[in-house]
Amino acid sequence: MQEQVYLKNTYKFTQKSTYTKVSCINEANWIALENNIFHPKGGGQPSDTGTVENVEVIEVKKLESGLVCLRLASHCEFPRLVTAELDAGKRKNLAALHTAGHILNAVMAAKGFTYHSCNHEPGKSRVVFSLEEKMDSLDLKESIEYEVSNLIRGDINVSDSYLCNGLREVRIGNIRDRCAGTHVKSTGMITDFNVRSIKSKKGQLLIGYDCSHI
Ligand SMILES: [Zn+2]
Repeated sequence: MQEQVYLKNTYKFTQKSTYTKVSCINEANWIALENNIFHPKGGGQPSDTGTVENVEVIEVKKLESGLVCLRLASHCEFPRLVTAELDAGKRKNLAALHTAGHILNAVMAAKGFTYHSCNHEPGKSRVVFSLEEKMDSLDLKESIEYEVSNLIRGDINVSDSYLCNGLREVRIGNIRDRCAGTHVKSTGMITDFNVRSIKSKKGQLLIGYDCSHI
């Protein structure tokens, strides 16, 4: 049974682990770590990058079985115990963007907007809401930045737990969302939040935002 270390600790950047070769993917160079620190692409979050025994990890994929697999840049014969290392800067940035997305969603939900989808890719981060009719976005930018920044400054603890149906729930103060992503430990670790763009099209409101990890 593979341990998903990334779900337990966002800040575990290095991990020693045994591994298995993944034969069900019809291509070479795929392995699965028994103690996995890599977040796979999914849920609006890009995959982590890093290395295994200094060999670059170029893709991280979660199979239907739940097994998270790593595609390596080259085929290598490794020792039984390998050292995996994440690109820590990227992981922290993604965690900040992802957590800010939850806060932005909560602020918009309080204004009556319904969540549609999200993307946490640096430079393209956005949360998308359903939109009933055209609206003036000027006041919205100011109020979103004010309200989200207030919650960030409050340095609210971020935690997670598993519901009885097995789904993971993230808690940011009173904010609760079902989520399998990586989050910061407290909202004060997010900095420089700003709304990059607000666009409405095809019945949707797209709110682009940026932020960084302290
Ligand atoms: Zn999340």
